[in-house]
Amino acid sequence: MKFNKVLTSEIDENFNNSLEMSYISRESGGYIAKNHNIFDTIPLNSINKFILRNALFGTAIYKFGDFKDKVMVISGVHGNELSSQRASLLLFEYLLNFPLDTSVYLIPFVAPNSTMNNTRRFNSKDLNRSTYIKGSLTNCILNTIKDLKIDAVADFHTTALNSNPGIESIFCSKEPSLESIKIAEHIASETGSKTIINDKAGFPFKGAVEDESNLEGIPAITCEVVSPFGSIKKGSIERSFLQMKSFLSYF
Ligand SMILES: [Zn+2]
Repeated sequence: MKFNKVLTSEIDENFNNSLEMSYISRESGGYIAKNHNIFDTIPLNSINKFILRNALFGTAIYKFGDFKDKVMVISGVHGNELSSQRASLLLFEYLLNFPLDTSVYLIPFVAPNSTMNNTRRFNSKDLNRSTYIKGSLTNCILNTIKDLKIDAVADFHTTALNSNPGIESIFCSKEPSLESIKIAEHIASETGSKTIINDKAGFPFKGAVEDESNLEGIPAITCEVVSPFGSIKKGSIERSFLQMKSFLSYF
């Protein structure tokens, strides 16, 4: 995967950290401005315009800093879970100048097309059940995680009160990647989110980005904040952003 350097002139903003970008897929693009439930909460500064423009062309991945250790933050695996995707825009701005000692790869919108349409599925697939299926969008992300030799992955979602899990939480599995638990407990202690720990990755269900990464021996967690599907509950963006910053502070 070839990354291209992003110039300050492209986002019309000065920033301290190095920034590069690439695309995981060119078939997932979407016009996020069509989804008013998220778009109306986004300040149209030059940074957000840059990100939204790139989302038209597919699944963009951004790399902040250039260090030996590498972590990845993703959101929008479910297009209708808006708070965490909105929080990724806050994280993007934060990472432009935050003093880093780890490279951070950020995918703010896994499937911009699903975000545009405010739907859970992409090409009729639940992307968080299809990471093991060759050629699926999340399988492409898993391959990127392996190719880039990412050290840890955090996938940010939202959960509705009456759904599963329905509470602010951090999911992970003990086996095979035990460090996933330490990361989850770190975030739980800093944010007050609950940990939900399964024994083995891939059970009780298969195909989540987190589980499939864990099965590859890469520490991984799934973070959930409470917000109704398809809309943004007050305060939920900030909760998701807090989880993201806490994930990064583990390293
Ligand atoms: Zn989800």
